[in-house]
Amino acid sequence: MRPAAHEWDEREETPWPIIEEAARIGLYSFDFIAQAFAEPSGLMMPVALEELSWGDAGIGMAILGSTLGLAGIASNGTPEQLMEWGPQCYGTPEKIQLAAFAVSEADAGSDVSSLRTRAVYDEAKDEWVLNGTKTWISNGGIADIHVVVASVDPELGSRGQASFIVPPKTPGLSQGQKFSKMGIRASHTAEVILQDCRVPGHCLLGGKDKLDEKLSRARQGIKSSGQAAMKTFEATRPGVGAQALGIARAAYEYSLDYAKERKAFGRAIIENQSIAFKLADMKMRIDAARLLVWRASWMGRNGKDFVAGEGSMSKLFAGETAVWVTEEAIQILGGYGYVRDYPVERWHRDSKIYTIFEGTSEIQRLIIARAISGVHIK
Ligand SMILES: Cc1cc2nc3c(=O)[nH]c(=O)nc-3n(C[C@H](O)[C@H](O)[C@H](O)COP(=O)(O)OP(=O)(O)OC[C@H]3O[C@@H](n4cnc5c(N)ncnc54)[C@H](O)[C@@H]3O)c2cc1C
Repeated sequence: MRPAAHEWDEREETPWPIIEEAARIGLYSFDFIAQAFAEPSGLMMPVALEELSWGDAGIGMAILGSTLGLAGIASNGTPEQLMEWGPQCYGTPEKIQLAAFAVSEADAGSDVSSLRTRAVYDEAKDEWVLNGTKTWISNGGIADIHVVVASVDPELGSRGQASFIVPPKTPGLSQGQKFSKMGIRASHTAEVILQDCRVPGHCLLGGKDKLDEKLSRARQGIKSSGQAAMKTFEATRPGVGAQALGIARAAYEYSLDYAKERKAFGRAIIENQSIAFKLADMKMRIDAARLLVWRASWMGRNGKDFVAGEGSMSKLFAGETAVWVTEEAIQILGGYGYVRDYPVERWHRDSKIYTIFEGTSEIQRLIIARAISGVHIK
């Protein structure tokens, strides 16, 4: 991935040959993800994600985008739905498939409760009809399987939402604008337009009985166990932190080597405390981030509740660490850090998304603050 990173960043296209190679070695597959999720310590996943991102975060995200769709199915679907659709999120090495998880809308990013995409049940045909526009969706429009979160009863806010599988080639789903981005440019990000998009009744994740029960409880004002999209994000946050960590470690290692080589005023720049102390702080923050990521991953795998927002802590700290470390790395490389011939400026561009997607840093702080205080802080 490293030698290919610059090319795919410039091309801003899905790196199909590399996804194919990942499929051939078994990395891009339902089996690999299932094995990583099943591994008892919970650490296989963050280790793999850190390494992928160390190789290249954009290509890494192109390989991992499908896993977000899979996570949407795993958190809200029945075991039968997971076994039916999970493998289809990846396809086979001979016929690669992609998945996407479509929640965000132009007026509903952090505020997932105000989704406008509607899902209406057509009882006569046992079909759901989806209408709306999703935005900034990784693999949006090019995916074979789209997992779409839509509102069934807008008056109930997030409790009136459900997740749906949109199977391959379903009429009524199309790609809108493809976005040109600051970083992770090998990962495709686009709008997804749903226009009278009909999916069979069995594509409602969790099934109709469970949804009816959930809606009825919400209408009676009975407390819920959490909203559909949020459940997915809770499970995937430490993994997102692990990706940020991979970028941070790449930049740290590169700038450490550079600081030992680069001479100014007749000595290696690392001999200046101002440079050496930066590297000491970079290493310390990266290790602290990794411990938070591993703790949350272990807790998630072993059924421990995130009582203090530990999943959010890991993603927040690792994301902000990656932004900070990559900026310091640019400083250590000086002019070489700022030009595209060197990878460091790309790492800085790639790192910034980790304070934005899957919950911004502000939203992570809200979650932690609410968890530790029990107060509904706004
Ligand atoms: C490259 C990329 C890939 C993405 N991939 C996907 C995907 O695959 N699927 C998907 O569904 N979405 C995806 N997203 C969307 C992403 O999750 C949202 O952009 C993100 O949740 C933020 O939402 P927003 O952009 O609407 O910002 P807003 O919610 O408008 O927030 C703007 C600012 O206000 C702050 N803010 C908002 N509310 C509060 C509050 N209550 N308290 C304090 N501060 C607040 C935010 O922290 C932020 O700083 C992707 C986005 C990008 C850029």
